Amino acid sequence: MSDQYDVVVIGAGPAGYPCAIRAAQNKLKVACIDEWKNLDGSYAYGGTCLNAGCIPSKALLESTELFHRAQTEFSAHGIKVGELGFDVATMQKRKAQIVKASTQGITGLFKAAGVTGLQGHGRLLSGNRVEYTAADGAKKELVAKHVVIASGSVPMELKSVPFDGKTVVDSWGALEFDAVPKRLGVIGAGVIGLELGSVWRRIGAEVVVLEALEQFLFMADQQLAKEALKHFKKQGLDIRLGAKVDGLDRGKDGLTLKYTDTSGSKTVTVDKVVVAIGRRPYGKDLLGDGTGVEIDERGFVKVDHECRTSAAQVWAVGDVVRGPMLAHKGKEEGVMVADLIAGLVSEVNYKVIPSVIYTAPEIAWVGSTEEEVEKTGRPYKVGSFPFMASGRARAMEAPAGFAKIIAAVDDDEILGVHIIGAMAGELIAEAVLAMEYSASTEDLQRTIHAHPTLSEALHEAALAADKRAIDFPNR
Ligand SMILES: Cc1cc2nc3c(=O)[nH]c(=O)nc-3n(C[C@H](O)[C@H](O)[C@H](O)COP(=O)(O)OP(=O)(O)OC[C@H]3O[C@@H](n4cnc5c(N)ncnc54)[C@H](O)[C@@H]3O)c2cc1C
Repeated sequence: MSDQYDVVVIGAGPAGYPCAIRAAQNKLKVACIDEWKNLDGSYAYGGTCLNAGCIPSKALLESTELFHRAQTEFSAHGIKVGELGFDVATMQKRKAQIVKASTQGITGLFKAAGVTGLQGHGRLLSGNRVEYTAADGAKKELVAKHVVIASGSVPMELKSVPFDGKTVVDSWGALEFDAVPKRLGVIGAGVIGLELGSVWRRIGAEVVVLEALEQFLFMADQQLAKEALKHFKKQGLDIRLGAKVDGLDRGKDGLTLKYTDTSGSKTVTVDKVVVAIGRRPYGKDLLGDGTGVEIDERGFVKVDHECRTSAAQVWAVGDVVRGPMLAHKGKEEGVMVADLIAGLVSEVNYKVIPSVIYTAPEIAWVGSTEEEVEKTGRPYKVGSFPFMASGRARAMEAPAGFAKIIAAVDDDEILGVHIIGAMAGELIAEAVLAMEYSASTEDLQRTIHAHPTLSEALHEAALAADKRAIDFPNR
């Protein structure tokens, strides 16, 4: 006997579980299958993001940032503490509790919404049937009017430096260290490499980051990237650009990474290595014969702008399809698909997906970089405001960085917003909303921002775009 559903979602990460919940809200009968297992062998919903990505990394970033601030900032406030110490076990316990609360929350959300959560493996068969294999190996066939693939992504491996799960690890492994490595090598200066490098650097590791590209944070506005590099170097992150890693030797003194840069072959010896060179779409044993779902040459499920695959009534969302590998992008795709299935009007505005790097200072942006706008040839103006001119930032002992707005000269439309500084990840939400509504800098200029807040930096940057900033000399 097969079970009948309106929608079966394969994967309960940040793309799959919101899709299942919204589909249930739309009065559809929904099942969501997920096979994620934690290191102790227990099943957990939430995918990479909740179990081994966004949430645990932010928990560790918070703990280590507090420690770093206690070391470097407390004295300026007049706070006197005894000798500071750091207990990695307590930090890890706290992180595990946060992860558990988050993943268990999804079980509660499924119950409340009426989603049937199934833990085990899901495999799409032809004719919109899904084979579900439970933990004990028992198989069941589900028949669905619609199937949504949300199988996510996994870390990419570097052939010359293969994972061993102990000394050479992926991002998940780097979130689980039970002691501070004395010398840590991070391969890849992308978002994940910089966040993880920061975590362990702040509590004492000597961190070398090897990045194959010559350009730092190539995807970010280069004015931001330059500012970020300056701060990271000051924090002691040894970032080596144009460094192509081509091998690893294991010796008595540790792990010697071999790399090549413009000046020739080099080595660096470390105790642990984190390979953070990117992620690839995941689809192991996901598709049976004759499903009609097409996969591209890089392993992504091919979809159109509404996340329809090449098979009728089969959809795919999140990291397993094109676009930035971000939890919030996957979430919005999942919600859109659930609404489209229910016959509602829905879309994802791919032009205004914010990006955040949770380092200190934080880095966040939305829309086009100055380099991208310049290439279009459209005349543009730029307004910037440094946080050192913000009373609130100074009061917070956080004067680093700036907010920058790029807008069109012809109609004043905001084309991109780039922030580096404290709480940039929170501040960017205003810019996202503004751009969602095609706001102009004048709209932001005329919007009252509470004083004293960091958000005034965005207000002043909007004013600066027309050389009308009040709290900083206009250039
Ligand atoms: C260290 C780190 C930090 C990150 N930080 C951030 C951040 O701060 N902000 C952000 O936006 N993004 C962040 N990301 C990226 C984010 O985690 C991903 O973009 C997001 O998890 C993708 O969601 P998803 O649902 O598409 O896939 P996943 O989260 O990968 O979930 C897919 C789920 O599907 C399950 N699955 C796969 N195949 C099957 C199958 N056949 N049957 C049953 N289940 C299956 C998997 O087990 C998994 O649970 C981070 C990633 C990492 C690694």
